[in-house]
Amino acid sequence: MGLLSEGNPLSWEETKKLADHVREHGINQFVNLYHRLKDRQGDILKWGDEVEYIIVKFDDEKKVARVALKAQDLLHKLNEKEHADPKGVKSLWRPEYGAYMIEGTPGKPFGGLMAHFNLVEANMRYRREEVTELLASDECVMSITNFPRLGAPNFTYPLHQPRPEDPLSSARSLYFPDEAIFPGHPRFKTLTRNIRKRRGEKVSIKLKVFKDVNTKLPVEGAPPGEPDVVLLDAMGFGMGCCCLQLTFQACNITEARRLYDQLAPLCPIMLALTAASPVYRGYLTESDCRWNVISSSVDCRTPEERGLEPLKDSKFRIAKSRYDSIDSYLSPEGAKYNDVKLTYDDDVYNRLIDGGIDHLLAQHVAHLFIRDTVSLFSEKVHQNDNEDTDHFENIQSTNWQTMRFKPPPPNSSIGWRVEFRPCEAQISDFENAAIVCFVVLLTRVILSYQLNFLTPISKVDENMQTAQKRDACRKEKFWFRKSSKSPEQRAAKQNGTASAPTTNGTAKATTNGSEEEDEPKKQPQVNGTAKMNGHSNGITNGTTNGHAHNGGVDSDHTDTDDEENELFQLLTINEIFNGKPGVFPGLVPLIRSYLQSMEVDTDTHCTIEQYLRFIQKRAAGELVTTATWIRDQVLNHPDYKQDSVVSESINYDLLKCIQRIQEGKHIEPALLGQGNHSKTKDFIPHALQKQLAKNGCCEDK
Ligand code: ADP
Ligand code: MG
Ligand code: MG
Repeated sequence: MGLLSEGNPLSWEETKKLADHVREHGINQFVNLYHRLKDRQGDILKWGDEVEYIIVKFDDEKKVARVALKAQDLLHKLNEKEHADPKGVKSLWRPEYGAYMIEGTPGKPFGGLMAHFNLVEANMRYRREEVTELLASDECVMSITNFPRLGAPNFTYPLHQPRPEDPLSSARSLYFPDEAIFPGHPRFKTLTRNIRKRRGEKVSIKLKVFKDVNTKLPVEGAPPGEPDVVLLDAMGFGMGCCCLQLTFQACNITEARRLYDQLAPLCPIMLALTAASPVYRGYLTESDCRWNVISSSVDCRTPEERGLEPLKDSKFRIAKSRYDSIDSYLSPEGAKYNDVKLTYDDDVYNRLIDGGIDHLLAQHVAHLFIRDTVSLFSEKVHQNDNEDTDHFENIQSTNWQTMRFKPPPPNSSIGWRVEFRPCEAQISDFENAAIVCFVVLLTRVILSYQLNFLTPISKVDENMQTAQKRDACRKEKFWFRKSSKSPEQRAAKQNGTASAPTTNGTAKATTNGSEEEDEPKKQPQVNGTAKMNGHSNGITNGTTNGHAHNGGVDSDHTDTDDEENELFQLLTINEIFNGKPGVFPGLVPLIRSYLQSMEVDTDTHCTIEQYLRFIQKRAAGELVTTATWIRDQVLNHPDYKQDSVVSESINYDLLKCIQRIQEGKHIEPALLGQGNHSKTKDFIPHALQKQLAKNGCCEDK
């Protein structure tokens, strides 16, 4: 969950005193790093997923499932291979907030070959098996977003009780014991304590209970006057949830800014599609997603910043928690959709401008820097701003937003990246791989077809709330841009010319050779290779192909700037993914037409097809979201008393069923249809590698 600095954490009082110091040096560090790296060009597409897992321990006799607090021990073993051979491992394991959580990523990022899409699921499966081998027979590693009885009595193994009255407790929660916080690194408890102290009280996470005929009100622990609220009071309720994230490397900073912007409006859409967490502290709630829970779980704003008291000691009113959806676009095209006033300190902004940072990036960074550091290590206080970036990363990595704009780390071969962070973790590797491959393909389509999904920030914010409602995937509508074409394409169309694909910055960057830097004379990628770093891939044929293969579905309406207001329509998830005639071709059909311009080996093609079909069916409501499925499991359980309570036995049976699904022992038609069998492999077959080499596409450069 971000920067893991080594060392000794300072007390909150010391940390607080150094807030301006961290801010000042963090800004200097950003300005310096920007100038070192702003002209960096030619990075190739690399991408990778992060899946978070929960370790569950079953007691089959008593029919109880608990979270097993053994992440530290597990990580110790899981990291052995990496220590011995850091470059050769197939997976990397990192701690997460919960003492029952681990995060797994591929050993190295995937790259620009189509064949890489066929590796993701196998790699996820490998990770699951790797952990399973280290577990006892009554334990299981699960990629579930939330443990349904997290915070309910006796939810941990070994058992620990919360200590709300103990001044030495980090969380002082009524429900979530400190022992459930990862003990192997001080960051997690330090953040817990400092967020609580900065806020001036414990965090307060409120969820409406799902009211059934026998639901007892007030819900146990409900705040006064709010009888139907399930109250959660600790950082662990949010940061103890799992998610599925993706990071992409762009060819340069311009492309990274563009991808950041284009993907931001898709965050709530993907959140609704991946909704997987309807149960909290043993209660069915009205929410299907973790997002607002995590957002409130790290809401360190003072009462003044939250607008509850007149400003006296705090500098600003702040609209959102440091964990929330993004507040501004970064690309010039996005600028006019920044319709929510950004809060920032003018002095910080001016220092960025004086440091040569442009307005959009300066306001983004200044806005991140309205937050104080909430975790500082004594060894890291004094740094060399020309080389270090820890103070910048300190603030950056504790702004947990839907998208993250990631500058290259100092002295590394890594380029400008963006991280896509909204998705909830799915039960099976198949589903998680499908989501990951879908989003990566979408980035290729966005770049190749120069699609435009920009939607005013205020509407994206609205969509974030809509996405979390019960069954939003089937029932709600989302603001969505009617035409997904760029202004250039629209202009070209209006002028009666075909879209000119390769004249803008993005395409140029590729045509100039990105990864062919070593061999500058080599021809740029032509359409139809198996490689897709190329933003030229698909571009040349892209727009024409795009629609020719689309059964005449064309998103290009006469949407000029005068008609901006009519550009945004309320669409269902089904319409967004599968298309609405005359309005939007649909994300999946757009990906399909892109794929027609690509040469894809049979197995990869089959796998991608399975993923796309799965996504289409879920979006259409033919398959349900994990959240809906979990609700149905609870509501139809023989022990369920129509009282919204997910009892020990319901929790046990639900998790046992999830275990059988993830192991492929049980096919659940509502979730996965008649079973999905991708052709995923954990390596690129030799014959294919040879063929790719012949076409000038090597696996690794
Ligand atoms: P975070 O800061 O979000 O924890 P990580 O360092 O854990 O990020 O990496 C997230 C993902 O980025 C992993 O899947 C990893 O494989 C991938 N990744 C690593 N290097 C690159 C790169 N150069 N470009 C894109 N993705 C990368
Ligand atoms: Mg990570
Ligand atoms: Mg991440």
